[in-house]
Amino acid sequence: MKNQNIPKKILHWYDNNKRVLPWRKQVSKKQMQYFTLVSEFMLQQTQVKTVIPYFNNFINKIPNLKKLSTVNEAKLLKCWEGLGYYSRAKNLKRTAKKIIEEFSGNLPSTIEELKTLPGIGDYTSRAIMAIVFNKSIIPLDGNVERVLKRIFFLKENSEITKHNINKKKSFFGSSNRAGAYAQAIMEIGALLCKPTNPLCYECPISKSCKSFKRNDFRLKSKNKFNKIKYFEANIYRNQNKYLLIKNKKFKFLKNLLIFPMKEIKKNKFDISVNKKINIKMSNMDMKIVLNKKSKFIKIKNSSLLDKKNIKDQILPSFTKKIFNSISNYL
Ligand code: SF4
Repeated sequence: MKNQNIPKKILHWYDNNKRVLPWRKQVSKKQMQYFTLVSEFMLQQTQVKTVIPYFNNFINKIPNLKKLSTVNEAKLLKCWEGLGYYSRAKNLKRTAKKIIEEFSGNLPSTIEELKTLPGIGDYTSRAIMAIVFNKSIIPLDGNVERVLKRIFFLKENSEITKHNINKKKSFFGSSNRAGAYAQAIMEIGALLCKPTNPLCYECPISKSCKSFKRNDFRLKSKNKFNKIKYFEANIYRNQNKYLLIKNKKFKFLKNLLIFPMKEIKKNKFDISVNKKINIKMSNMDMKIVLNKKSKFIKIKNSSLLDKKNIKDQILPSFTKKIFNSISNYL
């Protein structure tokens, strides 16, 4: 199904339709490395439209790699507040520091070296190789995966393995505008080949697409079930002040402020007198019982937070959700 014109068609469409994104601005080569690094970290598990204001604010407050390598943690987390997955912010700073100290301030230009940087794995290293170093690599994100599944009408479990989908990338061939080309393919997935109602009549590769020919766009995905876990959170309140602890116990939200909580068994969860809340995390659905406590106790790593100061605090959205949910009943 290889077609010499595919890169030409895709790039032509991209040049006329790509989104204006702040990290695509024309800047110096050095600054482009920084923009790519920050945007790729932010885009891990977060959608483009959510990332845009965070990216602008981040670049405003921390304008270059050098500043990032020495920024204090409070400022770093404040800039990241609300984006979630805070370990990404910490890894981004560690990566900046390592680039300054070990790579003379320049992003390393091999996948192997890039993967030695904290928070950079398979996908991000490939995205950087394509975007920053113009290498002929197409990183496999959800968008590219969907486009390939549709082009080749991949439906069977044996067809939708990562290995097979990676092999199918050869359909795209290559271009000497490798960075733009990789982004163009991802952009087709994001703007045209959407999960539902793909815009095939605008698609530059519809003639090569089996799903288009068959008018069947259903996607087969591997079933991923989030684990349900049960927790009990204690809400210690004294007038307007609430007790929060720096989380050392759970792997998620490490070192961030949460209400004191513990995991409980399912059969302990169904206590009808209490308030409950469901919160989805990346790999689990949390069901949390909220227990009102009137007496304060001493807890290690705890601090008191005045409700009216919530806005100025670095709080994960997880804790803010609980705050919002208790405000009506406490
Ligand atoms: S023709 Fe439609 S289904 Fe096929 S790749 Fe384009 S947008 Fe996706």
